[in-house]
Amino acid sequence: MQADRLTVFPAFHKVTEGVVLVVGDGAETAAKVRLLSETTARIRVVAPAPEADLAVLLGADQIEHRARGFDAADLEGAVLAFAASGDAACDRAVVAAARASRVPVNAVDQPDLCDFFTPALVNRAPVAVAITSTGAGPVLAQKIRARIEAMLPLRLGALAALAESFRPAAERVLPKGQVRRRFWAEFFDGIVSEATLAGRADEARRFASKLLNQPDSEPEGFVWLVGAGPGAADLLTLRAQRILGEADVIVHDALVPDAVIAMGRRDARRIPVGKRKGAHSASHAEIEAVLVREAKAGRRVVRLKGGDPLVFGRAGEEIAALREAGVPFAIIPGVTSALAAAAEAAIPLTLRGTASALVLAIGHDSGGATPPDWAESARSGATLAIYMGRSVAGDVAARLLEAGLSRATPVAVVENASLPAQRLLAGTLAELPRLAERDDLTGPTLIFVGDAVAAAGLAGAEPLSAPSVLAA
Ligand code: SAH
Repeated sequence: MQADRLTVFPAFHKVTEGVVLVVGDGAETAAKVRLLSETTARIRVVAPAPEADLAVLLGADQIEHRARGFDAADLEGAVLAFAASGDAACDRAVVAAARASRVPVNAVDQPDLCDFFTPALVNRAPVAVAITSTGAGPVLAQKIRARIEAMLPLRLGALAALAESFRPAAERVLPKGQVRRRFWAEFFDGIVSEATLAGRADEARRFASKLLNQPDSEPEGFVWLVGAGPGAADLLTLRAQRILGEADVIVHDALVPDAVIAMGRRDARRIPVGKRKGAHSASHAEIEAVLVREAKAGRRVVRLKGGDPLVFGRAGEEIAALREAGVPFAIIPGVTSALAAAAEAAIPLTLRGTASALVLAIGHDSGGATPPDWAESARSGATLAIYMGRSVAGDVAARLLEAGLSRATPVAVVENASLPAQRLLAGTLAELPRLAERDDLTGPTLIFVGDAVAAAGLAGAEPLSAPSVLAA
């Protein structure tokens, strides 16, 4: 036998006609019933004394329960059978009876008695991925399954169904060969697929019809405003990762980590527009012009922003510009840095009896002034998460004291949340102004103010007042 050949042949067994028989009372039977419930099969369970795990499943419409021992007559109408009783004699009897009636049978954990193996399954009906290690490493098969689960968008099945609904029209309208192949390539790669996978079914249909009726027109451009998360690459959403892989052009801010930018296609054009030290940073009007220009040229553009695009990300202006230019767009949320920073410091942002609201506030506006409007809310029991507040920490503290907060109100500061260079600092509102004097903090920082901060896990945090300042 050659080591690189399979001893099994993967195939997908129809289960719409007939029933699938499962014999057994325990966890193995429950596992098989759960797996079979991913299909439309009618399931016949022969279980004289079902254990609790199994019992809860037996009420389903799809299931017929026979509360007695196995009898060969249970195989009537069966297209597949599972012997899962855990009792060797009973399992052997099921296998023998199944083979006598030419019903393929699987005996749990007894490969010698199996006509087929049960795969680990990724279900995106009508698409299915079945994984087997031919019994060699079931845990390995489960690990592979988990990776494929993460890779395949949940709405992949919807995409397959949409394709099916367009197939007759495509065959009628488009000549066989290159034109038709190009249609499907565009269909599965481009904005049709993306709109479907993101749940915008109507839009997907519209894009697909257009693609079908004007196959020679330039591909339509599209812009995604994508949240890249706070910095750690694995805090990116699966959707964002998928769309990055589709983009022709990636327009990114300085705060977006290189690891995330690198997730784009190798041949995608990358346009940095953020403020980096010493480099030219594009004005906002220039950024908007780039997005519109690239999309109008038929490209799929990702506008990648740190954190969430809708939180202090100037998305509003970009949305307005895209609307005005008639460029279709969609927004992919990201983990905003306040949430990542709070998670790192274990700050319960809302806390029963202490904090009933969370305010995402900005330390200074584009003119450098501290907007006054959020200070009041802190007094009425909100946790404040302040972005862009480090250099204006003195103003921020003054506003809050003016609004009536106690000098002892707990404060936490997270620099570089989720990144290797992360630092946590803790102190009180009275100490907050010191933050602006500290030149050892150069990364992006998030400031939290409020009584809920006292419940945080800040045991290892550095003092907010720099040690040198304390000593003075
Ligand atoms: N859209 C972004 C915010 C952009 S404003 C978001 O949702 O997170 C930029 C500010 O975000 C920074 O000044 C800082 O206050 C905060 N910030 C961004 N990344 C951060 C990080 N990794 N750690 C702490 N604060 C961060």
